[in-house]
Amino acid sequence: MISELIRKTEIQAAKRLIDKAQSVAIVTHMSPDGDALGSSLAFAHYLRTLGKDPVAVIVPNRFPDFLAWMPGAGDILVYENSAQECNTILASADLLLCLDFNEPKRIGKVAEALCSSQAKKLMIDHHLHPDSFPDVTISYPDSPSTAELVFRLICAFGDFDCISLPVAECIYTGMMTDTGNFSFNSNHVDTYNIIAELVRIGIDKDSIYNLVFNTYSADRMRLMGYCLYRKMQIFPEQHTALIALDRHELYRFNFTSGDAEGLVNLPLQIKDIYYSVFMREDKDKIKISFRSQGDRPVNEYASLFFNGGGHKNAAGGENYETVEKAVALFTSTFKDYFNK
Ligand code: 5GP
Ligand code: MN
Repeated sequence: MISELIRKTEIQAAKRLIDKAQSVAIVTHMSPDGDALGSSLAFAHYLRTLGKDPVAVIVPNRFPDFLAWMPGAGDILVYENSAQECNTILASADLLLCLDFNEPKRIGKVAEALCSSQAKKLMIDHHLHPDSFPDVTISYPDSPSTAELVFRLICAFGDFDCISLPVAECIYTGMMTDTGNFSFNSNHVDTYNIIAELVRIGIDKDSIYNLVFNTYSADRMRLMGYCLYRKMQIFPEQHTALIALDRHELYRFNFTSGDAEGLVNLPLQIKDIYYSVFMREDKDKIKISFRSQGDRPVNEYASLFFNGGGHKNAAGGENYETVEKAVALFTSTFKDYFNK
């Protein structure tokens, strides 16, 4: 038995928006991960079985190659590459679905077209502090993934039978990636009851694991070795590790989007390291990832010093100076916040 999580009023309000819509555009966050794509593609497949047409999935920028196998990934529109087409779709859709993000800032340049569109907006998300722009918001920060919320919502609509194999594969991918293959945020029995349903539908969870986690390039493995051997700084008193890479270092390892995925988690495998911070120079900013274990929030620190936010144990942020300056800002501030 899977408990009822989503409030009835929200289910009804979401259903009304979907019933009234014919054309739908689904938008998800920048640097889309397995949950962003999993929840978006699952919902797109589901809406198409309801007869909605057209249904578009729009992502702000490229998604990593290890997610390209996902059913429907080939039809995703990348805003960075086709802004005009995306703007037209966003302006003319009846309904905009906002999946796996809580505020316009998280969708970068798509924000303007999304906010100015007259379409109704439905948000389904699990990040703290959802913005007030959507007409209907389904926000459950305790849910381990947005994909899990998508499963619950489709069932709450009475449409379990519409969960086809592609929908199930997309939902499982979101659940698996946002919990680090069920190694964090994954103690609720509902998660496993949902997986049981997905396995019954026919997903091959072992093969999905391989498709997502065992597809690194040799360059990426070497970058990982370089990070751990040459770049990792340990602050034992604060139980903290820091890795920072500038663009020259990334270039040396033929860096492509997705290559940094998961690197921030590695130092947490060290005994007594409870905080990990990873910085890398991007085109126009320094992108920073924060991870922690247990009751040690990093989202507030990310918001205070690095224009970011996120979950208690997984947050992110940005800095607009240089890697050196971002590192200096970090080393001069984190001791007052970490391990207090
Ligand atoms: P990642 O480190 O994987 O990029 O992000 C981890 C989590 O931190 C994301 O799921 C998201 O909730 C949050 N996050 C990442 N970057 C940002 C950011 O720039 N701003 C905010 N508010 N949250 C972010
Ligand atoms: Mn998510």
